[in-house]
Amino acid sequence: SDKLSDNDSQPKSYPGPRKIPSFTAPIVKKAMEMDTAGGGKDEAQGLHAEPSLKNFDEHIISLIESEIMSVSTSIGWSDVAGLEGAKQSLREIVVWPFQRPDLFKGLRAPPKGVLLFGPPGTGKTMIGRCVASQCNATFFNISASSLTSKWVGEGEKLVRALFAVARLKLPSIIFIDEIDSILSARSETEHESSRRIKTEFLVQIDGVATSRDERLLVLGATNRPQELDEAARRRFAKRLYIALPEKVARVTIVRNLLHGNEHVIDESGLDTIAEITEGYSGADMYQLCTEAAMGPVRDVNGAILEIEKDELRPINLKDFMEAAEQVRPTVVQEDLLAYEKMTVQKLNSV
Ligand code: ADP
Repeated sequence: SDKLSDNDSQPKSYPGPRKIPSFTAPIVKKAMEMDTAGGGKDEAQGLHAEPSLKNFDEHIISLIESEIMSVSTSIGWSDVAGLEGAKQSLREIVVWPFQRPDLFKGLRAPPKGVLLFGPPGTGKTMIGRCVASQCNATFFNISASSLTSKWVGEGEKLVRALFAVARLKLPSIIFIDEIDSILSARSETEHESSRRIKTEFLVQIDGVATSRDERLLVLGATNRPQELDEAARRRFAKRLYIALPEKVARVTIVRNLLHGNEHVIDESGLDTIAEITEGYSGADMYQLCTEAAMGPVRDVNGAILEIEKDELRPINLKDFMEAAEQVRPTVVQEDLLAYEKMTVQKLNSV
C-alpha cells in the first residue's frame, strides 16, 4: 500500500489507488528536507528534544516524522464502501476503547494488535486511516517489507524508535502493511537482520500496556495471512477479513468517484457497471473509473488545445463498458478461495 508519505496529499475520500512509493535513500531524503526546511523540521526538532527519544539516532526520528507519521486525515466510515462487518468490529474493539478507556478495561480491554487480511486493493490501508481518524489518533504507516529492503540495516532500530515515537504521540495507530514479510515462519531462516527485526517487533508489541490505558494499537495488514507463524498469530488474535467489494459496495464506490465529475450515469447505469465488475477490488474500481473518465477527452482527439471546457461531453456508460475491457480484475479466484478457507478454518479458531 501507499505506505510512506502521501498521506496528507490525498483528498478526503477516495484517495486514489496506492502509489508505489519511490525509493529515496535515507541520506538523499535528509538532504531534500534540508533544502525545503519547513514546518516539519521544527516539529522533528521538537521530537529530538524529547528525553525519551534521546537515545535514538536523530535521522531515524526525522525519517519517522517525515515518512511514516501523519496527523490523521479526516476519513469517515462511509468513505469506505461495504465491509460493514469489519467496520462494526473495529468500532467496537478499537474506536470505542480509544474514546472511553475508562469503560473498556478488564475483559473489555482492547487488543494490542488487529490483523486485516484479504486480497490487495480492498481498502485495508483506507480502513486503517479511517480508524485513526475516528480515534483522533496519530497514524503511523509503514510497509514491513521496507524494513528489510528500504531501511537496510536500520530496520530493528527503526521499529524500536517507531514505538517510542508512537508512545509520545498517543493515541496512536501503527499500521504495518505486508506484515507477513517480517512475521512469517520464513524469516527465521532468512538473514540475521530479518530475524532481529522480527524479535524486536514482537518485544515491542508485547510491551504495549493495555492495562495502563496506553492507547496504542498495531494494525497489521496482509495479503498472505497463511504465512504468519504461530508467534504472530498469537499477537494478532483478532483478525478481520477484508473482502472484495460486493455489488452494492461497487455501486457506492463508482457513485462516490463520479461525484464532482461531469457524467450522465444514472442509477440503472451504476447498476450495470456494478454488474459487469464482479471480482474487481476497490483499487480496480478506481482504475476503471479513471480509464472511463478518459473517454470524453479521447473523443476530442487532436483538438485538446482548442476545445472549450464546457464543450467536453460528459462521461457515459459506453466509456465504462470500454474501460472494463481494458481494466481487468487483478485478484485471482484461487487466492480468494484460500482466504475464504482460512476465514472459516485456522484464523478464526484461536
Ligand atoms: P489495500 O491496503 O487493501 O491494498 P488500499 O486501502 O490501499 O488497499 O486501497 C487502494 C484504493 O482503492 C483506495 O485508496 C481506494 O481508492 C480504493 N478502495 C479500495 N477499497 C475500497 C473501499 N472498500 N471503498 C472505497 N474505496 C476503496
